[in-house]
This record gives sequence, C-alpha cells and structure tokens, in this order.
Amino acid sequence: MIDQQNALINNIEEFRDQNLEARGEAARKLQDLVQKRINYLQNPKDCRSNRKLVCAIHKKCGFGCQLHHLSYCMMTAYGTGRTMILVSKLWLYNPGGWEEIFEPLSATCTQTFNFKPQYYVTTGELESANELEVMLPAVDQLPKAPRFAPLGIPEDLADELDQFHGSPGVWWVGQFIKYIFRPRPWLRKELDGYEVTVDYSTPIVGVHVRRTDKIGKEASFHAIDEYMKHVDDWFDRYDQQRNSQQQEPTRRRVYLATDDPTLLPIAKAKFPHYTFVSFVHFSRTAGSLFHRYSTDSLRGVIADIHLLSKCNYLVCTFSSQVCRVAYELMQTLHPDASNYFHSLDDVYYYGGQTAHEQTAVLDHDPKPGSQEIELRVGDVVGIAGNHWDGFSKGTNRRTKQTGLYPSYKTKEIFPLVKYPTY
Ligand code: GDP
Repeated sequence: MIDQQNALINNIEEFRDQNLEARGEAARKLQDLVQKRINYLQNPKDCRSNRKLVCAIHKKCGFGCQLHHLSYCMMTAYGTGRTMILVSKLWLYNPGGWEEIFEPLSATCTQTFNFKPQYYVTTGELESANELEVMLPAVDQLPKAPRFAPLGIPEDLADELDQFHGSPGVWWVGQFIKYIFRPRPWLRKELDGYEVTVDYSTPIVGVHVRRTDKIGKEASFHAIDEYMKHVDDWFDRYDQQRNSQQQEPTRRRVYLATDDPTLLPIAKAKFPHYTFVSFVHFSRTAGSLFHRYSTDSLRGVIADIHLLSKCNYLVCTFSSQVCRVAYELMQTLHPDASNYFHSLDDVYYYGGQTAHEQTAVLDHDPKPGSQEIELRVGDVVGIAGNHWDGFSKGTNRRTKQTGLYPSYKTKEIFPLVKYPTY
C-alpha cells in the first residue's frame, strides 16, 4: 500500500518535472525581473525627494518574526512606490544594527530627512498619503490586513508565475526575503564553510524541531519519531524513483535544526541508520528573551535557516516562523519547491495575511452524522487548517457552515493585487 502510494506520488512528481528546463528558465527570468525591480526601488537617484516607508526592526519577537515584518514592509513599499528605510540601531539581536550582519537594503538611500514619526495606516486601497516619509506599524497593529499583504500576488506577473509555481503567494514572499537576507561577506564566508560540512551533493532532508517557549503556547509537542516518519517516507520515495537506475540505497542524512539542545543525542540514538548533521556551537535558546537576543544566537538561527533552505525537503511545524522563512527562501532556489515540505501542524500562512481561501473544484456531500460540510463547485471556503489525513477544516462562505471537507476537492485562491509595474 505504502509502495503504491509512493509510486503515485513519484508519478505526480515526474509529471510536474516534465518541461523542467523551460519552467526553470521562466522562473529564473521572473526572479531576475522582480529582484531588478526591488533593486530599482531601493536605489533612487535622489534620496532626499524620494518617497519613503520607514520600518523598524524593533519588534520584540524572534528573528523569523522580525524578517516577516521586514518583508511585509518591503512589499508595501513596493506596492506604494516608496523606498523602504530600515531603522535597526539597537536591534535586540545585534545592537550595532542590521548592516553589521546583512547588506544594507540600499546603496543610495538609507536615511530620512524630514521624518516626523507618523504612522501610515493602509486603507486597503492604493495609499494617497502625500507625506514624503511615513512609518509602517507592525501588521498586528493595523485594523485590517493591508492590500499588499500576502498571500496576494501581483496581477502583472500572475500568468507567468502560474506557468511554473504551485504556490505563487509563497514565491512572492520568497522574493522579498531573498532581497533582505543578503549576508555580509564575513557571514557569507561563514555560511559557505557550513555548506561544505553539510555537503549537499547527496540528498539531505532538513528537519526543524521547535520546542522550548513555543510549546503549550503556540504549538503542541511533537516527538522526533513523528518528524522522522516523514523523513523515511521521503527517502523511500527517493529510493523507489532511483531503483530503476541504481541498486545502492541512498545514504540517509538529516540536517537537524532545533532550539532544544537535548534533541540531537536522542535522535542519533533512536535512528542509528541516519547521519545527523547539526551545528550546536551557537546558543539556540529561545526559552528566555535574555538568551535569545545575542549576536551568537542570531548567527545560529541565520545558519539554520540558510542551511534548511538548501535541503531537498523540509519536515517541520509551520507554526514556527523559522521553518516558514526557510521554506520561503527555498522557493528562490528551485523553479517550484512548493511541494518540498511536510508540516506537522499548520498549513503555510503569513501573520497578518489577507483571508486564506480556497475554491471547490468538486462537489462534496457530507456523510450523515459526520462533521463534514457540503461543497458545490465554485464555492469559496475560508480554510482554518489541514488535518493532514485527507481532510481540511474551513468555513463555506456560501452556506456559512464550518466543518471538514476532503482537501483534494478544493484548490487555493491567490488574490490578484494591482502593484505598480516599474
Ligand atoms: P517562532 O517563534 O518559532 O515562530 O520563530 P521566531 O524566529 O519568531 O522565534 C524563535 C527564535 O528562537 C528564533 O528566531 C531563534 O532565535 C530561536 N530558534 C528557534 N528555533 C531555532 C533553531 O532551530 N535554530 C536556532 N539557531 N535558533 C532557533
């Protein structure tokens, strides 16, 4: 049964991989275009007279959460034709500021000239504020999701994006993370060194296990066995696909990233047929703010995000922003990596996103006495979560009923947003 399931998944993957070269070319072209556009916007000729959107990195949350704040800010800057100015001095992770760790977001425009701290609150329409320099608050302080919030995608790129990517909204977020997450040369060198140790020449699955302060508050505990079951499945599929070509079973390797320092020896003892690669020499404690906010802990989480993003597949909990950032970055390294993950809890989401909706592509009649809901083709469903057992939970906007429905009977809706085309 499992073999049959794996064969089916492999067939689907092979089908998706057809025309890979053409799709890869389309992906590269679109990525180049978007990176050029961001670069153009971030490097105005006359900084003084240029309109700016000011964002601070001082949100008291982890690095993944802060990166998401910056990417939402840059997306809004892109949408409103403003250059994003980053305020990062006294950054909790590194008081010297962003530019000591990452490349500045601009080579020509990194400061304000006339800034009176005033907030710019989006109304959902293209902004009409005349002020040259305004500040964007954290997304959770806004009365409603801004027009440029994920998971919307630019109308002018939608058709092309649809040619090669399975989750265009994630790809779009990945473009901003890619631009923001550009390590300084010293850090680049450090990361390059880790890449040699990890060795991506043979397959490796990235496992992110988020524990400490998250458990019981924002996520449930999952034993390492739960993660490894999906790692096993991935390697089984990989071996099945390759068996026709070679008999040697694949050496099974896992890149393990976690904030739980006790986990690595447990994983090694329980799964001796796996090779675990992990960097534990940086503080990873997320449990106390005091320990979390240090340059060492920052270097650790940057390394983990970077190395996870380069793995062939990710197994993690999408309730953690660390794994979601790795997944977003992963999209910038392949034509379509939308399926290269298994989340043990949430579906992919972005804090402050616009409504996450799907549309029914098949009718569904609920089993009597079950918690299922009716679907008619074309119905719009607000999805609350995927139970990963074939069923998702959501609310049918037409009938107002909330309950379970077979996930395969719906497909994602990515709202089209009018962005400037630069
Ligand atoms: P979330 O709380 O998991 O959604 O993600 P955040 O990034 O917002 O906050 C968690 C913080 O805990 C990270 O930014 C790190 O400082 C630390 N952390 C969590 N998981 C890891 C990990 O796998 N590796 C490292 N190095 N740090 C981690």
